[in-house]
Amino acid sequence: MNTDHTRLRLLDCLDDAASGIALFDPDDRLRYANDYMRASYGIAPAAYPSWADMMRNCFHARVGLLIQTDDIEGWLREIGQRRRQTTLRCFESDMVDGRWMRVTETLHENGWLLNVITDISTLKAQESLLQQARDHAVQLAITDPLTGLFNRRHVFEQLGALFQQARSLRYPLTLAAIDLDHFKQINDNHGHSVGDQVLTHFARKLEARRRPQDLVGRIGGEEFLMALPNTTVQGTRQVLTRLRQDLSDSRPVPDHPQLRLSFSSGLAQIKAQDTDASALYQRADRALYGAKNAGRARDLDDDAPTTSAKQR
Ligand code: GH3
Ligand code: MG
Ligand code: MG
Repeated sequence: MNTDHTRLRLLDCLDDAASGIALFDPDDRLRYANDYMRASYGIAPAAYPSWADMMRNCFHARVGLLIQTDDIEGWLREIGQRRRQTTLRCFESDMVDGRWMRVTETLHENGWLLNVITDISTLKAQESLLQQARDHAVQLAITDPLTGLFNRRHVFEQLGALFQQARSLRYPLTLAAIDLDHFKQINDNHGHSVGDQVLTHFARKLEARRRPQDLVGRIGGEEFLMALPNTTVQGTRQVLTRLRQDLSDSRPVPDHPQLRLSFSSGLAQIKAQDTDASALYQRADRALYGAKNAGRARDLDDDAPTTSAKQR
């Protein structure tokens, strides 16, 4: 086999390659670049600049690699230090023309450095579409479509984490299980769509009262849950009192100005005996029954004496 002939064929083939290939000597001077590399970095056909001059040209002529700095010499010092530190370096770079390149630098024992660049713009675009689709799917999976609040599954998942956090950091956590009063009558008297508007209105008011650390969601038809970390029953009552004020100051459905809205809630603050978040929730739910039985439109905590037997 004629090796010189093979080498020449190889060089021809490299010029047709769909990747950029360059070779730098131990002084970091370009010794070889195929056509793709020269075109991508704006290197003239017979030019063999140092790597630093190649980068300076990219920066000043705004070609090739996108270099975002006010201080190109500082940039060269910083990147230059990293450039020959390891035998293999892979990274992604964006180009002035908007393309994305995967860059591979292989440093050989003798100090020669092989540089390969491959266009990954299509992959990047697909990756970003996939990321958007994933974000959208996650959003749908945790959101109640009517109100935009977190749905039941997500609320209970998050509640588990809040419970554990309150336990380990030893701060209070209070739950408010909230249920709209006589909501069925609203549906019966005005129709399902007015009922939906009421739910959405209530959800907006509830969300507006949520502090950044609180968890709020819709856990059933006209049932909501609020979890307030670092807050006692008393603090939670204050939040709910403000919510009641917001509701009485507003018109849930503009077409039915006479329509008023009230809710009952059951409160439970974390106790040593609560084995998990669901034990805490059960106490809040029991208190909610009590609030309904006591006449609705009120908050009751699970330590308060309740009237018995009557069903919600
Ligand atoms: P209470 O004061 O005892 O809570 O009475 P209530 O009428 O609020 O409670 P009940 O459980 O009897 O009725 C709840 C109603 O909520 C029944 C159901 O049709 C309605 N509902 C559940 N989900 C939705 C929804 O997404 N939209 C509408 N419009 N109504 C819903
Ligand atoms: Mg109800
Ligand atoms: Mg209910």
